[in-house]
Amino acid sequence: MVVILIGVKTLINSDRKLKKFTLSTWATAFTISVLGGLASLSLPVWAAGTVNDIVVFECGKISTPDRSFWSPGVDVNVKHDMVASCYLIRHKNGLMIWDTGLPAAIASKPDGISIAGGKINLFLDTPFPKLLQEFGVAAKEIKHLALSHMHADHAGNANAFAHATWYVQQAEHEAAFSPLAKKLNFNLKTYNKLAESKTVKLNGRHDIFGDGSVVIIPAPGHTPGHQVLLVNLPSGPVLLSGSINELIATTGAKLLIQHDKEQNGQIPHAPKYLR
Ligand SMILES: [Zn+2]
Repeated sequence: MVVILIGVKTLINSDRKLKKFTLSTWATAFTISVLGGLASLSLPVWAAGTVNDIVVFECGKISTPDRSFWSPGVDVNVKHDMVASCYLIRHKNGLMIWDTGLPAAIASKPDGISIAGGKINLFLDTPFPKLLQEFGVAAKEIKHLALSHMHADHAGNANAFAHATWYVQQAEHEAAFSPLAKKLNFNLKTYNKLAESKTVKLNGRHDIFGDGSVVIIPAPGHTPGHQVLLVNLPSGPVLLSGSINELIATTGAKLLIQHDKEQNGQIPHAPKYLR
């Protein structure tokens, strides 16, 4: 079984900013057995090494009074709350960060900030670098940095990790440092220091530690070089989804997980049909 962690959805519902990722938190995660179209994302678990653990941080809240912002015509004026999540991945050969949360500057605004004409409200109690420090890890200890994509709810504190090796799909890198960035609503100020970082440009998958324990997998669509992260925990693999769910939201699509027995038991099969 693979567990998918949806990056900015309702992974963490409690007010706690930090949860050690243990088996007991599985129940709060969006847990589904995968894979179907994602089957090719799975690794031969028997061949993969494992990380020590993943530490999940809540790196901001995202709220909208009108969910139809992401799905025009659907869920008009329905309130929707999301979280921005950041992950510290601890491997015996080094520490890695996956996504960095909302920009630290938002923490100075007690009422958060409002963008998109009030359609999106962003709140941040404590910036991710400070959460990390409070947890006992200094930003400078991080060796590896990867972002699902360059939007500011994921790349918001990327500059704090510019000393680390940055793994990015070439298409995302090109977009990030070109006029396309503005069109894609990237905020260059949140990641401009990465231009000087030791950078590994990718055109596909990448095995960070060389043992199959942490693998970047391209999943373009939401942005040109959007990517997801497959991490093999001692208890089994998890997939950190980035903003696949935003892609689902913007299209209004329902996710059909081709290998999910429970879900498949609830949808019509031949000779019936979906329409
Ligand atoms: Zn995004």
